[in-house]
Amino acid sequence: MRIAVGGLHIESSEFSEYRSSFEDFRVLEGEGIVERYGIYAPEVGDAIEIVPLIHARALPGGPVTLEFFDAWGAQFFGLLEEAMAGGGVDGVLLYLHGAASVIGMDDPEGWIAARVREMVGPGVPVACAMDLHGNVSDQLFDAVDYLTCYRTAPHVDEAETEMRAFRAIVRLIEERPQLHRAKVDIPILLPGEKTSTEVEPGTSLYGMLERVIAEHGLWDASIWMGYPWADQPRCHGAIVTLGTSIAEVEAAAAEIADAYWGVRHEFAFVGPTEAEEPAIAAALASTARPFFLSDMGDNPGAGGFDDTTGFLQKLHEAYREAGSGKRVTYASIYTPTIGVRGERGVMEMPFEAIPMLVGRTLTLVLPHGFDFCATVERMFLDATGGEGVVLADGNLKVLATQARTQFGTRRQFENAGITLEDEDIVVVKMGYLEPELSAAAEDWIMVLTPGAVDQDLVRLPYEHLTHPLAPFDGFDFAFSPEVRMR
Ligand SMILES: [Zn+2]
Repeated sequence: MRIAVGGLHIESSEFSEYRSSFEDFRVLEGEGIVERYGIYAPEVGDAIEIVPLIHARALPGGPVTLEFFDAWGAQFFGLLEEAMAGGGVDGVLLYLHGAASVIGMDDPEGWIAARVREMVGPGVPVACAMDLHGNVSDQLFDAVDYLTCYRTAPHVDEAETEMRAFRAIVRLIEERPQLHRAKVDIPILLPGEKTSTEVEPGTSLYGMLERVIAEHGLWDASIWMGYPWADQPRCHGAIVTLGTSIAEVEAAAAEIADAYWGVRHEFAFVGPTEAEEPAIAAALASTARPFFLSDMGDNPGAGGFDDTTGFLQKLHEAYREAGSGKRVTYASIYTPTIGVRGERGVMEMPFEAIPMLVGRTLTLVLPHGFDFCATVERMFLDATGGEGVVLADGNLKVLATQARTQFGTRRQFENAGITLEDEDIVVVKMGYLEPELSAAAEDWIMVLTPGAVDQDLVRLPYEHLTHPLAPFDGFDFAFSPEVRMR
């Protein structure tokens, strides 16, 4: 049994100026793929042979360049063609995130799946495992025989999901069942910060899947929340059910759709949220320390560019106006160079040149035109951000790094010389706080800052979404589930 395995894994904000390309992707090929995915098939090497295509995975970012996507595609489809011409292919297993935005394309994953189907023909099973924050277009749904996604967010069931898809493709090849599948589009688009499965209504909604699968005798049932930071018709919730009985598959899809729509009013941010000014005022006035502020609109963990300074400017201004002596750390800003304003204009300093500025107080020009008069305190090294520098105006410190990063662990702060407990206010670019930060926080606010992953979706300039769609058209328009059967 020869199973071709490959895929593409990125969520990319179309509202980001960042472009995700070769340097952003970790690429698995050859033996790397066999090792990574072979763990799901105990019989690999004997009954099952994994035919490696290519799998590329990147941190969330901006739209993927066509250059990268073309290069990925040339290798992926080239290897698939070779495999078909060589020993043949009995099945194809796709590992796709589902929220890739590629410049000039509306539905990259659907296109990939459709092209695979075109190449292998109708008789070769194709299975696909996704992230529940991915999008399921009709094109994608129609092209694959089996489709599943995570059932938890944060995603603690990634391995289980990958294994489910692997087992499904083996079963499809071995048993040749008459598998039916249903899809229902749910007209809701929500950010992940409102749909965690660790709180209601996410817990119960996803919790119903196992029961529905058992009761209807299904192969599988999945719920997608979709990815909100792309302006594409496919961005919305979706449900897919699979099984051998048409009636059961259809009934189960309708049942989950009703449940999903039924809890639409209950999705709420997993923590306290505020607009920028009140959040800053609350943090400056609070005695809780450290008080965490999440600059959510630029969260690189969801596709933010990591370079916005709008919230920092407001915080800095309020801080100076209040004459606050509080210790504040802002983590962080991505900037490949730092401008230094002098008599003859602005000189862009690369990170290699910044150590010689340590100890000096200068007018620094940070991204988006933020003039920050600060002392260059010290350099540090961040595992993903590379060279970093601490810039301080009194007790307000800004961490700047030469590559995109996210300060999500205590260790990273310590590397930069910051002890969380010594700070009154810590600003991070994320949505809900990572576990170590959450444990350290005496209080916190998720701030509704603008950016590439603005959590206040209705203020983003969408044009191509499928309407009606909550929250854009309210939550109370009429919806009756339409079941798409294949
Ligand atoms: Zn996800």
